[in-house]
Amino acid sequence: MQTQVLQPNAESIALAAEIFRAGGLVGFPTETVYGLGADATNADAARAIFAAKGRPGDNPLIVHISQMEQLSLVVSDIPERARALMEAFWPGPLTLILPKSARIPSAVTAGLDTVAVRFPAHAVAQEIITRTGLPIAAPSANLSGRPSTTTAAHVFSDLNGRIPLIIDGGPCQVGLESTVVDATGERVVLLRPGGVTREMMEAVLGERVEIGKGVMEPLGEGDKALSPGLKHKHYAPKAQVAVVLGGQEERARYILKAAQADDRPCVLCLEAHKDAYPGLDILSAGDTPKDYAHNLFAALRQADEAGYTKIYAEGLSTAGVGLAVMNRIERAAGFDLIKLTQGEDER
Ligand code: AMP
Ligand code: MG
Repeated sequence: MQTQVLQPNAESIALAAEIFRAGGLVGFPTETVYGLGADATNADAARAIFAAKGRPGDNPLIVHISQMEQLSLVVSDIPERARALMEAFWPGPLTLILPKSARIPSAVTAGLDTVAVRFPAHAVAQEIITRTGLPIAAPSANLSGRPSTTTAAHVFSDLNGRIPLIIDGGPCQVGLESTVVDATGERVVLLRPGGVTREMMEAVLGERVEIGKGVMEPLGEGDKALSPGLKHKHYAPKAQVAVVLGGQEERARYILKAAQADDRPCVLCLEAHKDAYPGLDILSAGDTPKDYAHNLFAALRQADEAGYTKIYAEGLSTAGVGLAVMNRIERAAGFDLIKLTQGEDER
């Protein structure tokens, strides 16, 4: 199969809608990462997503809508807390777990009676979904186990020959996958941190948002995963990743020494810290935690292409979007977290 990469315009969006209505797959931009979409009401189309990605069959998909009216097609109930979060953060990078409607096949939800649903803020994503006239199931548009894709070129590199079309909307603004919360119970539980932060949701709800077990630490033997994604190895570059937390001077000293034992090491760090690692190759995380989120997956892919065998990633405070960044790099590192003594940026 030839994979076309097209700029978003009336013609390419009409083509994407036509492919979706015929049960096919399209890679498309959202504000979080690129999605690999299919008609969420078509079980065969959903199964084709799992096949194209090599995604484990027990890891459910997120269903994307572009109008609030589509919600009743996807979910059977909207609890009060979920409604408050939708009003505050949709359209945007927030996914809610809700009871599923009969229209959504179990191939989408991996057999669960709940469904993950999101209203993306990206204009191109919205237009494609609206033109299709159907909710679109879409996980991240990467091969399973690889970092999520934040540019059309990354999608092409993973899925060339497996899908007919990629719509190129430029680099994704947030750069990390959506925040996922379960808002069906007495407490809102965070299942995956993202661009809508815990603090932002707590301000709206006026109550604590809990961090689900297994989100910021490995699941224990026999622990039940609150979200199927927590069981799977995620975001893995080929290089080994070590996350280093501590005061900046101490951290630089540690990395400079440890890297002497590595074959091809590099450091993923904030711009302001670059000069602290003389002689080591640098992957830039940008200037702020937000930039770090935006740049992380591209940096992990860049590291693979350059053939590094070890990445020392600067850890950061888990405040705000820092929680999402730490969640992704800790997972990429298999929770290999090096905590030096307390420093200014210790959590
Ligand atoms: P991705 O589509 O690759 O961004 O991943 C979607 C994430 O949402 C995965 O971690 C899934 O396990 C999670 N998810 C999707 N549907 C559900 C659900 N019904 N209950 C809990 N987690 C879900
Ligand atoms: Mg994914």
